Amino acid sequence: MSAVLNAMGTTAYIGIGANLGDAQANVQDAIARLRALPGCTVSAVSSLYRTAPIDSSGDDYINAVACLETELGAQALLQALQGIEQAHGRERPYHNAPRTLDLDLLLYGRQQINSPELTVPHPRMCERAFVIVPLLEIAGNIAIPGRVPARCFESAVAGQAITKL
Ligand code: ADP
Ligand code: MG
Repeated sequence: MSAVLNAMGTTAYIGIGANLGDAQANVQDAIARLRALPGCTVSAVSSLYRTAPIDSSGDDYINAVACLETELGAQALLQALQGIEQAHGRERPYHNAPRTLDLDLLLYGRQQINSPELTVPHPRMCERAFVIVPLLEIAGNIAIPGRVPARCFESAVAGQAITKL
């Protein structure tokens, strides 16, 4: 069990997505709620992007990535993210259903985590333009622990439609 508080502070990247209700407003509210999280300071937020659903259905998604410095342990941070999802009435009627708000913990420092509730780096982040493009906007030189620099995935996701708002 990881510590709830980590006094040194860790840099974490959060993937934000929504395609149900007023998706753009939901993403903006999520960013405001991240800014208000105890023990967390948002240090960068990407532009908002519009993307087509992948392995999912419904309207286009609005996506962004936020960087935060956090004193929360990874598990506590995941719970905080799930609390924000719940505040938006997130329901999971079936796998990959449209969602009012999805917050994924993409990266947590240089850590690699494989617990029943949490896999970090997020296992599918490198195959998704809606993660790689906003991530590179705010962290162009970032490396994915256990893998290669994020920019190496840019060409692999180049075929996926993504538009900066
Ligand atoms: P997805 O985002 O893959 O569409 P969900 O948001 O419904 O799916 O998340 C399902 C579960 O994924 C959550 O209950 C959470 O415990 C687990 N999970 C594992 N790793 C992560 C991660 N890095 N970030 C967010 N959730 C994760
Ligand atoms: Mg999720």
